[in-house]
Amino acid sequence: MKVFVLAESRKARLELTAGARPYGEQVEVIVIGNDKDSAVADKIWSIPAQEGAMFEDYTETVAALLHQEQPQLLLVEPTKRCKLMAGRLAAMAGTSVMTDLIDLTEDGVGKHLVYGGAAIRKEKAATSLAIVMVGPGVLSGADEGGKGEQEVFPFVQPSHRIQVVSRAKKEKSSVDLASAKRVIGVGRGIAKEEDLGMIRELAAVIHSEVGCSRPIAEAEKWLPKETYIGVSGLMLAPEVYVAVGISGQVQHTVGMNRSKVVIAINKDKNAAIFAQADYGIVGDLYKVVPALIEQLK
Ligand SMILES: Cc1cc2nc3c(=O)[nH]c(=O)nc-3n(C[C@H](O)[C@H](O)[C@H](O)COP(=O)(O)OP(=O)(O)OC[C@H]3O[C@@H](n4cnc5c(N)ncnc54)[C@H](O)[C@@H]3O)c2cc1C
Repeated sequence: MKVFVLAESRKARLELTAGARPYGEQVEVIVIGNDKDSAVADKIWSIPAQEGAMFEDYTETVAALLHQEQPQLLLVEPTKRCKLMAGRLAAMAGTSVMTDLIDLTEDGVGKHLVYGGAAIRKEKAATSLAIVMVGPGVLSGADEGGKGEQEVFPFVQPSHRIQVVSRAKKEKSSVDLASAKRVIGVGRGIAKEEDLGMIRELAAVIHSEVGCSRPIAEAEKWLPKETYIGVSGLMLAPEVYVAVGISGQVQHTVGMNRSKVVIAINKDKNAAIFAQADYGIVGDLYKVVPALIEQLK
């Protein structure tokens, strides 16, 4: 079976390429411009970067490449632009896209969260090409060896083009939760924004990044939106996840339940988060967190 990989970021490209191994003996990656790091693939299809072109402008080129090479599986990074391109590629190839999978078996059965994360649906492509979007950590831990052959695939002029008028840098959170080994997730158990100082202090002591539940980012706006964890936010699998004042609603836990070790701090002994936890501390976080900082220092 031939597997193709399409990603916007180099990091996702490397992870998907390495993680593609169990799904096919031939793993090939599509790169816009040049990326020598993609040498973990058996073949790198390099599409020449076009001046002023947007990512979507390469859709016709990628479609032509897929048509020529006929892979059975296309693994795609789940960014907005990749989703847009994947949808158009699927329409051109007469197939559908399996989005935001949390698991993909070697025989192509994907697991997908439905009803806001309350249920899991299993799905499988019924066409010769399966287009599948998987987030960080889902395909981790696979072999990274590839032949790294390179071939240039010529750019195909898009039929409907949007012209770029200008580009400006957007200030984003510098936190990289997806690759953090330790993450503290803070929830509504925190009463005031200032109290995040205590959480950051704990994070510094245990060398961790700080993420949150959705209400902390969306409702309170105490932390950036790109740091909330769960079905509509980040799907993480760190070595250690510390849930502080988080109730453990399924919409949150699907984003952290692949963590190796989960520690939960909650004053309610019946909180659902304890069902996910390897270690649980029942207590007031305003007493537990300072005590932990004191001990761990
Ligand atoms: C379609 C949909 C998508 C959603 N997507 C997401 C998502 O991606 N991510 C997400 O997080 N949520 C998501 N939600 C929201 C989700 O359902 C929950 O409402 C949310 O996760 C709850 O956040 P929380 O645990 O911080 O708050 P709460 O549920 O209010 O829990 C606060 C917890 O803090 C504890 N607590 C309070 N005070 C203290 C104290 N002093 N010491 C210790 N513990 C204390 C309480 O016992 C409680 O368990 C989604 C909801 C819907 C409907």
